[in-house]
Amino acid sequence: MSAMENRKLLFLDGKFVPASGETFIGVDPTTGQPCAEFATATSAEVDRAIRSAREAFDHGEWGRLTGYARGALMLRLADLIDEHAGTLGALETMENGKLLRETTSQAHFAARLYRYYAGLADKIDGRVSELDSPDLVNFIVREPYGVCLLLIAWNSPMQLLANKLAPALASGNVAIIKPSEYASASVLEFARLAELAGFPGGAINVLTGRGGELGQLLCSHPEVDLISLTGGISTGEAVLHASASGFKKVVLELGGKSPQIVFSDADLERAVPGIIAGIFAAAGQTCIAGSRLLVSAEIYEDLVERLSARAGQIKIGDPREPETEMGPLANEAQYRRVLEYIDSARSAGARLVAGGGPVSAPDRTGGYFISPTIFADVTNDMRLAQEEVFGPVLCVMRFTADDDAVDMANDTRYGLAAGIWTENIRRALSVAGRLQAGTVWINTYRTSAAGAPFGGYKRSGLGRERGREGLFEYTQTKNVMIDIAGSARDPFALRV
Ligand code: NDP
Repeated sequence: MSAMENRKLLFLDGKFVPASGETFIGVDPTTGQPCAEFATATSAEVDRAIRSAREAFDHGEWGRLTGYARGALMLRLADLIDEHAGTLGALETMENGKLLRETTSQAHFAARLYRYYAGLADKIDGRVSELDSPDLVNFIVREPYGVCLLLIAWNSPMQLLANKLAPALASGNVAIIKPSEYASASVLEFARLAELAGFPGGAINVLTGRGGELGQLLCSHPEVDLISLTGGISTGEAVLHASASGFKKVVLELGGKSPQIVFSDADLERAVPGIIAGIFAAAGQTCIAGSRLLVSAEIYEDLVERLSARAGQIKIGDPREPETEMGPLANEAQYRRVLEYIDSARSAGARLVAGGGPVSAPDRTGGYFISPTIFADVTNDMRLAQEEVFGPVLCVMRFTADDDAVDMANDTRYGLAAGIWTENIRRALSVAGRLQAGTVWINTYRTSAAGAPFGGYKRSGLGRERGREGLFEYTQTKNVMIDIAGSARDPFALRV
């Protein structure tokens, strides 16, 4: 099924239904041309989807499935994702301009996540706890929340969705998915695979529309029990406000301004490709982009030279071509935002050593391409060092003592990820322990695994995704206490 065939369709109650509201157009950032038309779900459609999800959870077939049966459905879904990874990847690339080989491999990684959580679906064990009285038996179970609203950013829809949906389903929840207005096609195609896999009606629902309107409507809906967002800080705040009156459980995966620290004893042959891919992969549009590079003064000029040389060689072009290393920015607003940051860094006095503006891909006219850009001699108080650009712009700063590197790395409101490059394991572990970040990579960067929990310190988020920690976000704890004493007791005497 192509993206155009999916237009004006919503997925609810286990099937695609024609939408009745307005539509919006998706644009291919590689060409700047319209590529698909989508529906905006109306408030009546929102109510219908949430009613169907609620019914599936409270009284429907889904709510009665065992963990083993849920896992079996998820395994079937994972096989279908692998089988259709090329189509899912192509739809993502069409809308967000990421390299086709990356979006395809992200679809396979999404399948891996469904398998990982399918394996845990029948292992959500409780425990029996011993209390202070022989007359009391006490056990603790983990139960699903109910209706989970999953709000997904445009940069990696399949993977970001799997981070949320796989643990939500494994633990027995139902989901309302709202993809980004800039990347809805692959999520609709995914819904078709869920239908093929045989998920009962209401377990998985997809509503398309704009975040500011539809997203807010969904967040404040009284029947939504949990909200999980991947997005920016201001959206995180809007979600928290909209959810406050309902005291909903909220999981936030937000942005980053992640430092990479290069010590003088680092193996630069390994560090240079790690740093380059850490910032320029996906044209810098990843939450974990290693956008702040802190370099020991002893190797500073050497490393800046090596990085600017490699950045200048990056092959920019059509993200569908196998030799392309960097595609376009995902949309016009993002493109303009990144150019504005480049101008501000120039005005603030940073030294431009690579790139620095728009570029046309050799095989393209149109599209939102910006050259891989590096600014050296940045100071930590500049906007470029503090704000998330979400584009192909690296800022480089110099340090002398290890303590200074740690202080500079932590001097940000974000705390998503950090990288350390050194051959000294004692130094690496000591610094890793002092960095305020949810993920620390040592002599690698941007490496993911289903079993490795991921999430942010400080303003980079609340809660964790992936690993067992990701599963626990979608369960709440119930304590059950039984009095097995044979005789009645004084009910007014507190027993502890
Ligand atoms: P946004 O915050 O703009 O949007 C994220 C999602 O929320 C989209 O589905 C969006 O819909 C929706 N949304 C927007 N406004 C609201 C609102 N007021 N109420 C409810 N929902 C809303 O982020 P982007 O899509 O621009 O993605 C970029 C951001 O995501 C960056 O900050 C990046 O760092 C972060 N990110 C974090 C990751 C992590 O795991 N920590 C991973 C990837 C990205 P719509 O698009 O239709 O507006």
